[in-house]
Amino acid sequence: MGTIVCQTCQATLEYFETEKVSTLYAKCSSCKCTSKEEKK
Ligand SMILES: [Zn+2]
Repeated sequence: MGTIVCQTCQATLEYFETEKVSTLYAKCSSCKCTSKEEKK
């Protein structure tokens, strides 16, 4: 099983079927992650 995780807040966004265990990073739409990009 694969997992899609928000790269900013680490929230699990979605599961998908795959032959091997893997994690993909994306940005969720429920939080404000997209407006924060990577500002330090
Ligand atoms: Zn997020």
